[in-house]
Amino acid sequence: MAQPARNSALRYFDVAVTFTADQFRGIYRGKQYHEPDFAEVLKRAKDYGCEKVMLTTMSLEGAKQNLQLVREFPEMCKMTLGVHPYHAGEIYEAQGSQEGSNQYLETIRKIGEGLFAEKPSPLAAFGEIGLDYVYLDRADKETQQRAFRDQLEMATEFQLPLFLHVRESTEDFISIIKPYLPKLPRGGLVHSFAGSKAEMLQLVELGLDISVNGVSFRSDEQIEMAKYVPFEQIATRNRRSVVRGIGNGPENRTIPCCCKTSTPKQKAQ
Ligand SMILES: [Zn+2]
Repeated sequence: MAQPARNSALRYFDVAVTFTADQFRGIYRGKQYHEPDFAEVLKRAKDYGCEKVMLTTMSLEGAKQNLQLVREFPEMCKMTLGVHPYHAGEIYEAQGSQEGSNQYLETIRKIGEGLFAEKPSPLAAFGEIGLDYVYLDRADKETQQRAFRDQLEMATEFQLPLFLHVRESTEDFISIIKPYLPKLPRGGLVHSFAGSKAEMLQLVELGLDISVNGVSFRSDEQIEMAKYVPFEQIATRNRRSVVRGIGNGPENRTIPCCCKTSTPKQKAQ
């Protein structure tokens, strides 16, 4: 087993922990390999210099689950709040009876307002929001775009950094988000980007940060793209950990990194 970097000068902030994913319940490809072990995951993360994690919220239900974790591990866990494009349909299926308002989004807003008022607030970013045209069976383009716009409106109220998802939809993504960015000065991170170099540079031009992981290295074109992400705007990610290369130093330079899955004990190294 590799020696934990307990005394490392590098500090990490894992900004993409999808606690609601099966892997954190010990399930891989539909099969249960181990009991849920999130406390152990956090302990291992800390051993390797990862001091905080941000739990990615993808739906209203997910927000409630993440909130429980944040309450259980307040020192280490922060969370995002938002509805992922996969879940965009849920927003409008649950349309409430009141004219002009949406019950699902209103509930998200209320949770957000409550958390935002706490000092310190457990809310670290607004998201995960965006577009994903690979999985149109989960929500069609029109629904995704509507959800993205509606949530960008809400994001301007919270003034948190954005946590963004873009898959095979960069052109529409940019045309929707661009008018909002002057009202969202804290910018955002486009995570797990898997598009072309030209698309990535357009996103960087808007002032957004980019993260890459396994899905970003499946073609020569994607590898070429990753080579050109400006150093100050890259966040890399592999299966268990990693890193945005912005150096060590004071608290505000803590390195954000990403970790999607827990580690099956029998495969831990
Ligand atoms: Zn995503």
